[in-house]
Amino acid sequence: MQSQKSVLHLSLKLFFICCLIFLSWFGCQKDPASSVPPEDKVPQQIPEGSWVTYSPYKWTHDGEPYFGEYCIVYSDCCSYQFKQKVGLFADEKFVQVLDLFSFEDMEDLRYPMDYDKVDVYINRYHPERLAAAWWGSIIITFSSENLYINRHDYLFRHELTHVFQFLIEGHVNLSTPVWFSEGIAIYGGGGLWGIRDTEDLDQWIARNSNDPNQGNPICIHVWDDFPPGADITGYYYNVFDLTMRYFLDPIGLDKSIEDVLGLFYNLRNDVAFPTAFQSNFGLDPETLEDEYYDRMRTYLADSNWFDDSQIMDDLVPTSRLEGDIFCRE
Ligand SMILES: [Zn+2]
Repeated sequence: MQSQKSVLHLSLKLFFICCLIFLSWFGCQKDPASSVPPEDKVPQQIPEGSWVTYSPYKWTHDGEPYFGEYCIVYSDCCSYQFKQKVGLFADEKFVQVLDLFSFEDMEDLRYPMDYDKVDVYINRYHPERLAAAWWGSIIITFSSENLYINRHDYLFRHELTHVFQFLIEGHVNLSTPVWFSEGIAIYGGGGLWGIRDTEDLDQWIARNSNDPNQGNPICIHVWDDFPPGADITGYYYNVFDLTMRYFLDPIGLDKSIEDVLGLFYNLRNDVAFPTAFQSNFGLDPETLEDEYYDRMRTYLADSNWFDDSQIMDDLVPTSRLEGDIFCRE
């Protein structure tokens, strides 16, 4: 399941969410030449779009976007047919995110000025393979048009969950700590389910016993809080996933997705995260941090999802990533 990883070294002045995917599913289409545009097909530099304002990346597109119901798909060279295919898929995934939050009041989404749809960039001629979300936009690179788009189900829903949070908050920056914003995006994507029982948790704790915070995810507020060399995508994402599952599970904290939405609205109104978390989740983040492993141990001991073969059948095909996500904020 694990694939090769690398790290983007960018000096980021803007506060943003970025998930870089180093995908094994691209493995079957690996072609070193495919990341370099043919000489007669160098993409135009069109400096338009919310991506320019909020992203540190300088993207290009061919000026012929596909306009979907909720998303506009831009690309440097993908065919219109492929943009349309991705646009229909992205619209479907965005509706699934809206449905997850039982959200219907589209007028209440706060897009960047002059925007009313999500910009989706699907560039091929970009050196990094990545998926990232900013206020009103996502970027997912493709190495080929010859792919099975449904394998990107998790990826699109993850990034569009970030976008949904941006659009509720209506800010350039998300106001949640990394552990929360990634946790809800992983949940929105369908979950990773990498930590399933107390044995998995004990392995995590043992593996991180030398880290300053013993791998406690609630200590990861900003990107720089990850310990040097941490296996972020392989392991931290799994504890972020576990944390959000715990919040929303009736045998965990027994909160609901409406509580998550309530928190987002508090943040829109400039309520500080600890206060918003306390009022929507009935728990002080500092208490959560202090009690984290005890709470997770109790929760996992009480859980029996994987005794239920039906849940296993439902989960494994759709939620397991065949690659690594690498996020930075
Ligand atoms: Zn993310």
